[in-house]
Amino acid sequence: MPVNSEKIRSIFPVLHQKVNGKPLIYLDNAATTQKPKSVLDALTDYYKHDNSNIHRGAHTLADRATRYYEKTRTVLKEFLNAKEEEEIIFTKGTTESINLVAATYGRKFITKGDEILISTMEHHSNIVPWQMLCEEKEAILKIIPINDSGEILMDDFDSLLNEKTKLVSIVHVSNALGTINPVREIIKKAHHFGAKVLLDGAQSTSHLDVNVQELDCDFLAFSAHKLYGPTGLGVLYGKRKILESMPPYQGGGEMIKEVTFAKTTYNDIPFKFEAGTPNIADVIAFQKALEFINELGKSKIKTHEDNLLSYATSLLGEIKGFIPVGTAKEKVSVLSFNINGMHPFDVGMMLDANGIAVRTGHHCTQPLMQRFGIEGTVRASFSVYNTESEIDYLASAVAKIAKIKNK
Ligand code: PLP
Repeated sequence: MPVNSEKIRSIFPVLHQKVNGKPLIYLDNAATTQKPKSVLDALTDYYKHDNSNIHRGAHTLADRATRYYEKTRTVLKEFLNAKEEEEIIFTKGTTESINLVAATYGRKFITKGDEILISTMEHHSNIVPWQMLCEEKEAILKIIPINDSGEILMDDFDSLLNEKTKLVSIVHVSNALGTINPVREIIKKAHHFGAKVLLDGAQSTSHLDVNVQELDCDFLAFSAHKLYGPTGLGVLYGKRKILESMPPYQGGGEMIKEVTFAKTTYNDIPFKFEAGTPNIADVIAFQKALEFINELGKSKIKTHEDNLLSYATSLLGEIKGFIPVGTAKEKVSVLSFNINGMHPFDVGMMLDANGIAVRTGHHCTQPLMQRFGIEGTVRASFSVYNTESEIDYLASAVAKIAKIKNK
């Protein structure tokens, strides 16, 4: 049975409003997804009934909050098929997860002359932490090039890999193009040279089945807010052995076993990396977002989104002046484009006047935009609650806008 988008829409309150006098058409899901009512209710329920600090309390509320918080870790372990719950660390988001690895694993294990590989299509959060680390350590950052469709050039990857490669940090799915990278092959090849692999899963975890044991990635970073969950919450998965070998990220409460002025001993994983009072309410509410995905099933969600993508690609492809950006064979439901003779920002503003929310600009991938020789794109990204009729509306709005410069 295909997903029933109308029914799904009914549990997303934010979708039922007018923007600029028109019904909202929310096509900015790669930036952040909307939240189902169950997530919103979980947030208020927590503060109404369970609010308490976790792990240390001897009272009922603290015990309840701790159990709910830790339950999300268990659900995530299943969601990713991690071996153990302790391999799941809560962070602020993908950005913090990557920075955590750079600041701990990177500082300890990357030394002068070592090489780190990333690709042309990385988000800034998977570029800048490595640039900072390389500057500090006198290590070398190397870039895997892509072709004009927005696919990694695997031959070039092969020739960049060598014994000096210590880490490959790569985006699983490109936020700007939608490309699904061949990460299984990348991981296998990197491991052959003894390099560790970090996957930026910010865009993949919402669309694909990401099985960390099957992929054999060493780290996976992602954000709850792109998976129908709250903002300000992320996950870092890491293999136990590697996490245990890493020094702590931040010092403070929770991450210690014992503190004296002479010496401090650190807590076990995952707590070693969760200093201070964490984002308790959001972690608990995230469970509801994961339940929402699990109940629908990833493959059903993907089929729906893939159908929307091919429908939109063919419909918008007929518009005179439409220039797609990112035409990889393997893609998720991201349609990046430009309109001949128009600035993407202007297109975005005109769509907004029609109640259509898209993202415009460089999508935090400036080097990728430089690769394509463009300033930015208009990006429509589809989710499980989007419908074909919304895409009809998008296509007719884009056609009208394109006509201004493409008679
Ligand atoms: N990586 C990719 C591919 C992304 O799409 C994003 C967010 O857009 C990030 C990293 C950063 O995520 P966050 O801002 O939630 O930390």
